[in-house]
Amino acid sequence: MNTESKDCFVVDGKLALPYQYFAGRTGSRFLISLRDEKKIKGLKCNKCNKVFVPPRSSCEKCFEDISNNWVDVASTGTVTGFTIIRYEEPHQPVKPPYIQALIKLDGADTPIVHIVKGVALTKMKTGIKVKAVFAKSTTATLMDIDHFKPVDEKPKFELGYTYDELEIGMSASFTKTISETDVYLFAGISGDFNPMHLNEEFAKLTPFGTRIAHGALPQSLIAPVLGMKLPGLGTVIPEITVRFRKPTYFGDTITATGEVVEKIEKKKWVRMELRWTNQKDELVAEGSCLAIPPAAFLKK
Ligand SMILES: [Zn+2]
Repeated sequence: MNTESKDCFVVDGKLALPYQYFAGRTGSRFLISLRDEKKIKGLKCNKCNKVFVPPRSSCEKCFEDISNNWVDVASTGTVTGFTIIRYEEPHQPVKPPYIQALIKLDGADTPIVHIVKGVALTKMKTGIKVKAVFAKSTTATLMDIDHFKPVDEKPKFELGYTYDELEIGMSASFTKTISETDVYLFAGISGDFNPMHLNEEFAKLTPFGTRIAHGALPQSLIAPVLGMKLPGLGTVIPEITVRFRKPTYFGDTITATGEVVEKIEKKKWVRMELRWTNQKDELVAEGSCLAIPPAAFLKK
């Protein structure tokens, strides 16, 4: 109460003022498709190709009536600006602090304002991709989208180098010691129980004087190079040739190396030179292969 005034009393009071707000024809259509179909719709100006989300019945650029040109836009978009709300007000949809962002949905030209969750306040930045998370129950408002969360932009698989990324001279290696166990396992896998790999007494009669690994065993060590390093995941090898130069004895440490030596522009394949060396740097085998690197579109 104001007791300063001499001539009249000033009485403090409060009025409850319930009101309804008519969303309008355009706003209603927007909210209904959000509520009933979980679809975000915009209005498109056919003259300037702009898509307005939230929708507006006339183009703000060319003043065209666009009230019937409804289009669907994606539920994913890009953050074009944001602020962190730290003060508390009774009307807020969530308890501060929270991120309020301008989000330009994919397919729209104008941003909507919404909440972003799932990002640390200190890590938030513009340009991140986000996706709408719809609310479990409807309120027939924009809060039918509960919030936006960051889209995991990491690809599921880290694919290898594409044709364009590969350069002549690039090389990669894989090294492994070939043990007796490896040889026995390989015998089981291949069905090759040749005694020169498994029977020391028989092997003594051969020019090598002792057991040696199957030729294909050290050869197979090029597979992790081509398939997982260079070109890497997603590569297909349509042709490989190998010339064996020296045996691989048990306990030898073999390094398989692949090097890009030619780019075949017409096919978008590469030719690679292959080498296998042992711990004494002796050439165990050499050869070449054709490699079809992962397609660029797979990386997206
Ligand atoms: Zn326009």
